[in-house]
Amino acid sequence: MAAENETGVSLRAKDQLQANVAESQRDTAIRPPAGPLTVPEVLHRPACDRYEFVILGAGCSGLSLCYYLLEKGIDAPILILDRRQTFEDDRTWCFWDVESTPFTHLALKEWRSWVFVAAGGSVTQTTSRYPYKFLAGRDFYEHALARLAESPNVTLRLGAKVGGYAEENGEALVETSDGIIRARHVFDGRGLIPGSLEFEEARRRSVWVPQKFLGLRLQTERPVFNPERCTLMDFSVDQSRGLRFTYVLPVGEREALVENVYLSEAEVTMGEHRAEIEAYLEHAYELESGNYEILGEERGYIPMTDYTFPRRLGERVYNIGTLGGETRPSTGYTFLRIQRYCRELAAAIASGGEPPDNVHPWRLDLLDALFLRFVRERPKECPEIYRRMFAGVAPDSLVRFLTERSTPLDEARLIAALPKTPFLKLTGRTLLEKLPIPAP
Ligand SMILES: Cc1cc2nc3c(=O)[nH]c(=O)nc-3n(C[C@H](O)[C@H](O)[C@H](O)COP(=O)(O)OP(=O)(O)OC[C@H]3O[C@@H](n4cnc5c(N)ncnc54)[C@H](O)[C@@H]3O)c2cc1C
Repeated sequence: MAAENETGVSLRAKDQLQANVAESQRDTAIRPPAGPLTVPEVLHRPACDRYEFVILGAGCSGLSLCYYLLEKGIDAPILILDRRQTFEDDRTWCFWDVESTPFTHLALKEWRSWVFVAAGGSVTQTTSRYPYKFLAGRDFYEHALARLAESPNVTLRLGAKVGGYAEENGEALVETSDGIIRARHVFDGRGLIPGSLEFEEARRRSVWVPQKFLGLRLQTERPVFNPERCTLMDFSVDQSRGLRFTYVLPVGEREALVENVYLSEAEVTMGEHRAEIEAYLEHAYELESGNYEILGEERGYIPMTDYTFPRRLGERVYNIGTLGGETRPSTGYTFLRIQRYCRELAAAIASGGEPPDNVHPWRLDLLDALFLRFVRERPKECPEIYRRMFAGVAPDSLVRFLTERSTPLDEARLIAALPKTPFLKLTGRTLLEKLPIPAP
């Protein structure tokens, strides 16, 4: 049985495989599970009961915010609390390199060419300007923790489950499994956990499309992948249970992360995800299950939603990361938005300004809402819509749109590539739903 950690990720590797893989690692990027990261000892300082800043969650947003605060020269005491006991290589972040981040240089792999596949045909796009980067979770955590460890004002407490918080006499009181902690400012980056109150509230009040996936990190016996090109979406797979595609990130001729992704409410077990990946590997690469080893897995449920997440909960508590609404509604991409928001938030704090509400362009909200509704209401037509986008919009324009860096000309090109009638109908309805109703 594969061991499961608290994030629901299971990692397994056979001893023999580890030996074989270690031998072949010199030219590979997907590494066998290396076990939990060693957290720099210095971060486990004795905790106090009062801090200037308390960050809930040492995940992508919590660690990023702390990183940017330190880069801005903040030297007031910062405490980061997380219920996890360890940091594992639990996810891969992919993003287009449209701007620098402190983590971009850690990417294990990049592609300047990607393919899109649907029943209507496949489209390959190539760019020299904006590569698509592959960042292993482990490298992100390691780099962030090393930076935090350089600063004497940061304490990290793992195994600390946060319950709730309250505000009293100009302070926030955070209730943890280790007792109450007082703070002048609290940043909540605990993520949007399926089943939580925040999750259910957002689901009830919005157009909601679950993005559910399982990814397998594979090493194959023989070279089958083209490491020069990744497959962003392959919709040629069975669509009978809901909108579904395969995502293939080849990091070498024999190594890839292969994901089975549903944009649908369909209840899919991990066994079914695995079987669908197996079938894909057989069909697309003529790989039988004995022809490859699974080095690790990652799984997720990323809600794509137009819910307006509250940024501020009271005077002293702010939501960041997924909980702060940083997931792009139409795509599920979150990493770059987290970097942008945390960078701006740290700058505002350092200059004594007000934390920004949002830093992504509001202009794109309508297009996001339209795409989201299209996926929700007309999933069968989506593969062809996406194909038209990939075929009709130049790669650099498309990347700028996908990363919220588009110019009005990029957006005009995108709109020109879409079928007019269904989108116009949806636009009217979306505007009616989203526009505030004037008071009588
Ligand atoms: C497998 C996977 C792959 C992804 N790949 C991409 C990608 O390629 N590109 C992209 O843009 N986005 C991707 N995402 C989406 C998004 O970028 C990530 O989910 C990102 O980690 C969200 O950051 P966060 O800070 O909101 O939450 P997280 O990074 O999940 O951090 C939340 C932290 O809070 C802690 N926590 C939760 N509850 C408590 C509690 N009660 N008390 C204390 N601590 C608590 C958790 O242990 C965790 O460490 C992916 C998501 C997943 C799950």
